[in-house]
Amino acid sequence: MADNMTELTRKTLVDIRGLLAARQVAAREAVQACLARIEATEPKVQALLHVDAEGALATAEAMDKIGPDTSKPLWGVPVIVKDVLTTKGLPTTCGSRMLENFVPPFDATAVAKLKDAGAIILAKANMDEFAMGSSTENSAYHPTRNPWDLGRVPGGSSGGSGACVAAGQAFAALGTDTGGSIRLPSSFCGGVGIKPTYGRVSRYGLVAYGSSLDQIGPMTRNVADAATVLQAISGHDPRDSTSMDLPVPDYLAAVDSADGLKGLRIGMPKEYWGQGLDQEVETLCKQAMDTAKSLGAELVPVSLPHTEYAIATYYIIAMAEASSNLARFDGVRYGFRDKQATSLLDMYKQSRTKGFGDEVQRRIITGTYVLSSGYYDAYYRKAAQVRRLIRQDFEQAYSQCDVICGPACPTVAFPLGDKTADPLQMYLMDIFTISLNLAGLPGLSLPVGLGKDSGMPVGLQILGPAWGEEKILSVARSLEKRLEPLPEPRALA
Ligand code: GLN
Repeated sequence: MADNMTELTRKTLVDIRGLLAARQVAAREAVQACLARIEATEPKVQALLHVDAEGALATAEAMDKIGPDTSKPLWGVPVIVKDVLTTKGLPTTCGSRMLENFVPPFDATAVAKLKDAGAIILAKANMDEFAMGSSTENSAYHPTRNPWDLGRVPGGSSGGSGACVAAGQAFAALGTDTGGSIRLPSSFCGGVGIKPTYGRVSRYGLVAYGSSLDQIGPMTRNVADAATVLQAISGHDPRDSTSMDLPVPDYLAAVDSADGLKGLRIGMPKEYWGQGLDQEVETLCKQAMDTAKSLGAELVPVSLPHTEYAIATYYIIAMAEASSNLARFDGVRYGFRDKQATSLLDMYKQSRTKGFGDEVQRRIITGTYVLSSGYYDAYYRKAAQVRRLIRQDFEQAYSQCDVICGPACPTVAFPLGDKTADPLQMYLMDIFTISLNLAGLPGLSLPVGLGKDSGMPVGLQILGPAWGEEKILSVARSLEKRLEPLPEPRALA
């Protein structure tokens, strides 16, 4: 029985949904298999904050009684959702003490869409508090460990989502990406993650961090699975005024018809392939580009000249938006309230001091500072101007190429505790991911192998122009077909 369960959790999402639709596997069996895998791996990985075993089993049983519904592309498939997305009746903490007891009365649109497609929400995934971080060490509850090496971080802020998928706890997870939080953990955990074009997926029910940057996206073990989940969650939503009213293409068809890269121009930004790359990362990403060439692609040198300003620009804008978004957590309307406070002002102060962790407080203070009247022009306005230049860099580059490739991160996953003492070192992990959010464009991280020395996964980023998800999925699939698939994560074998 136990072996059988592991066999099931090893399946891809596309395979399991086929088995479920054909009634060769019952929804209950799929849920049980994942729950057994969670029980076996969670003590080591700690990817989750809340497991809804009872609810998921009850949903599965009710679904099995009626039988598969072929109009539902994810019928019976267990998935896990980052704890920053509201789930009706299930705790949603955002990895923060501030929301320790918060149980939302509604589903985020992306969650509702997953359920409409027949998916079963199994658990909520751990994350950096309010999605602020690159390692999941900023969770107020516990850090998550990398399934490839339990002494290393899974990346962040969607580290729980990245780790749970790699550990086989579910067939897919949702993450969110404000500055790389889907792509970084996907790359560190050997998975596929997509940050969609801003406006592709509704942000309704995503607890806001940087509203002009945040997007929800799939995190899976392969490209076809990511396409399937993206398909389910995409589309216009009247409840998010920034979601776009555009038809949703058939992403899986784009993946299925991927056939080489003949005639494709791949932009290679010199700023992404230069100094500061770990040897292993450089070697594997370059090998993947050789593969692209052998598949018919042409590699075109391009430049994204404002890359060196991206980190400063991003952290000013993200912190400014965070300081405003997090003002709602005041001890009155949501979440934690300090009961010992003696006056209203003291109540605000103590609730926020005790409810928020260090990194969140650091960002609220910095964000408030850059928005303050004496400094607005020097920081926030300037950052907004540089943001425009960064977007123009991409426009310019895409006049010479179809997609852009580069490493997802300069290094592989680093040891726990390695960067917690120095926030700037942590921020530097985002150098290759944040420009994309500033420009609102889509990007995907694809595993391209294991580092020779570290044995850790390396991710290649494939970036596309606005609404270019089909293109980057198809490029990713063509490469994936040629690359050696990763083995199972060592630390859980
Ligand atoms: N590491 C970045 C930050 O801390 C990105 C986080 C994210 O994408 N949510 O802000």
